[in-house]
Amino acid sequence: MNPFAYSRPADLDGALQQIAANAGDSNENGSDNTANQHEVRFIAGGTNLLDLLKEGVQAAPRLVDINRLPFDQIEETPDGGLLLGALARNADTAYHPLVKERYPLLADAILAGASPQLRNMASNGGNLLQRTRCYYFYDVATPCNKRTPGSGCSAIGGVTRQHAILGTSEHCIATHPSDMCVALAALEAVVHVQSVRGKREIAFADFHRLPGDRPDRDTTLAADELITHIALPPATQFAGHSAYLKLRERLSYAFALSSVAAALDMGEDGSIRAARIAVGGVAHKPWRKPEAEALLAGERPSDELFGRVADALLAGAVGRGANDFKIPLARNAIVRALQVAVHGTVKNWSATPDDTEQGETP
Ligand SMILES: Cc1cc2nc3c(=O)[nH]c(=O)nc-3n(C[C@H](O)[C@H](O)[C@H](O)COP(=O)(O)OP(=O)(O)OC[C@H]3O[C@@H](n4cnc5c(N)ncnc54)[C@H](O)[C@@H]3O)c2cc1C
Ligand code: SF4
Repeated sequence: MNPFAYSRPADLDGALQQIAANAGDSNENGSDNTANQHEVRFIAGGTNLLDLLKEGVQAAPRLVDINRLPFDQIEETPDGGLLLGALARNADTAYHPLVKERYPLLADAILAGASPQLRNMASNGGNLLQRTRCYYFYDVATPCNKRTPGSGCSAIGGVTRQHAILGTSEHCIATHPSDMCVALAALEAVVHVQSVRGKREIAFADFHRLPGDRPDRDTTLAADELITHIALPPATQFAGHSAYLKLRERLSYAFALSSVAAALDMGEDGSIRAARIAVGGVAHKPWRKPEAEALLAGERPSDELFGRVADALLAGAVGRGANDFKIPLARNAIVRALQVAVHGTVKNWSATPDDTEQGETP
């Protein structure tokens, strides 16, 4: 690993000023917070960033450790929603009583990711900004437009088993790897960010980007912006009928080949009032299509209807050989997640974090 300067500011102003002083022209160029060649970066849990620095995938001559900033709480909002601190750990978020009660979909998605040790370190803000798991992105001996803009995409024509089937470009076919983000997309979270230029809020659907001709930019966050919170709007109507289904190469400690966050608002007569569905592992960002969700409104659940919804969500999907299987896999996953959600939320966590979790061997 290359040498780097390290600081651990005690307050927000200090952190923002340090990043602003070193982000330089990056903001004016529209460069995002995760782009590869910044002078300075925030570090939270370090579970992704340290690997990238050690492998030489990213450079960071200066690291600003944000772990002393006061963003590690989970608070109720007056409207019945929650404000998740960007520095609250993934494990503390998943096991928080109000998250389990109001947003079981989110708790379930977080617990489907990584391992207990990683979730204890990983922060909510860092989870949103984790980089793709494309093998070529991590292999600095191969061309990769995301790592080195303009160098080419080794995945196109290469090994594509993990790669995207939707929203790709001729420059990049990578997927976003997060589980948490799939649930946050379905729950229509809002990302609160701050820089020396002020505060702003970014709707979750606008936070991650499709690759287009700038695959080096994962998000719409500017280089000098800090995520402070993730706001969850009230969603109690979905709490009783939600499901996170993750399909992967093995039962734990693997990234999704395809995952589905499904949330249904069920009427007392058994019909569906409203639905939210986000699909992971298939695109550069969690994949949603409100027009596909609208097909469910006012309808009674059926496998035939769920199949039509899945087809609408996956319209335009294209495989590249080794990932062709993802199209039927994602279709089946969407249908299955909806079937499970109709019957009620399965709470895959135990009473305490020490107990056995879904897919993990005791
Ligand atoms: C072996 C392994 C398996 C994994 N499996 C899964 C999985 O199955 N599912 C899954 O979803 N994830 C998985 N992960 C990824 C893990 O969830 C992420 O590494 C973690 O969430 C990142 O959080 P962090 O706090 O450690 O981020 P860091 O590594 O500290 O930071 C990541 C990026 O975010 C930036 N950053 C961090 N916080 C902020 C902030 N508040 N504002 C602005 N920028 C910020 C950093 O500058 C950096 O660019 C796995 C990771 C590993 C190592
Ligand atoms: S798919 Fe994207 S991340 Fe992977 S090699 Fe191509 S440009 Fe790089």
